[in-house]
Amino acid sequence: MRTRARNNTTREIADFLKGLERAAVTTHTGADGDAIGSAVALVYLVRSLGAEAVFCHAEPVPNYLSWLLPNEPFVECPPDHDLLVVDTSRADRVGVPHEGVHPIRLNLDHHEDNPLYGEFNLVDDRSAASAQIVAALYAELGVPLEKRTAEAIYTGVSTDTGGFRFRNVSPEAHELVADLLRVGVIPAEVNDRINRTGTVEQLNIVGASMANADRYGEAIVSIVDKDDYARTGANELDSKEAIDRLRNVAGVEVVAHLREIEGGTKASLRSESMDVGEIARLFSGGGHRLAAGYTTLKPPREAREELLAVLKDVVNLGEDGTGGAG
Ligand code: AMP
Ligand code: MN
Ligand code: MN
Repeated sequence: MRTRARNNTTREIADFLKGLERAAVTTHTGADGDAIGSAVALVYLVRSLGAEAVFCHAEPVPNYLSWLLPNEPFVECPPDHDLLVVDTSRADRVGVPHEGVHPIRLNLDHHEDNPLYGEFNLVDDRSAASAQIVAALYAELGVPLEKRTAEAIYTGVSTDTGGFRFRNVSPEAHELVADLLRVGVIPAEVNDRINRTGTVEQLNIVGASMANADRYGEAIVSIVDKDDYARTGANELDSKEAIDRLRNVAGVEVVAHLREIEGGTKASLRSESMDVGEIARLFSGGGHRLAAGYTTLKPPREAREELLAVLKDVVNLGEDGTGGAG
């Protein structure tokens, strides 16, 4: 009989890891700094316990994170390896084909909407990053942090906290960072590798995202579409970081960045106060309370109308709720 999913303790997961012989570690589609950072740190942890471990992902690793990986990832996870998934809120967001082939043995994550889809689950939504949870496993197992591991963990924590500015920052996160610095992490160096690897096309599309921002009372919505990509030479992923720059307008409760993708729109939502995860779930997406996303089959302008129709019930969209902006 299948028992109901439950969250395990750090001790139980430490014991589980000690029993592994061959592990394949993967993470969510559209991998970010915490996805790759926590996956790499978990690969090194399993290896230091004497087992084999590889990282696998069907999508290419974004350029700004490739320095974390000494080798190209496996595109498919080797079938005789146990599948460990990090930083992934739902099984359908796992970055490799796994259904029917590869049971998810471990689900390690910090999303509050994670339904505990693994055989073993270590989900802690008070952790600023999945990398913080992996760091707790190092401590539990008494495995010392090496510099490359510490850099991977630092990447996860610093990117998921927006450089230690978001509301998920805690004393524990800062204490961890102090330990990471003690084993040789130089934040300026990591920052250079992550943030100073951009292109002028990225700069231009982020600029277009700023220029295209429209205010609707307490909401800001910005769209970038295929015309913007053609004009700037940027691709769809290049505007990803724009969302964080849309947050600087006084009196705004929620910001949305809608970027055109093949066959629809990818939406990113951010807030300082309201549950945007709940809004993302209305569109079959998900995420955290203050940072969430979804994709829709609608083109960007229709996606904006659809979003505003939901937002009008939760924030004040001003006199003209439909915005009237271009
Ligand atoms: P993003 O806006 O893509 O940076 O994503 C912000 C947060 O929302 C991350 O924690 C993602 O895991 C989550 N998220 C983004 N897109 C989706 C989606 N389509 N389904 C579920 N969660 C998502
Ligand atoms: Mn992530
Ligand atoms: Mn994360």
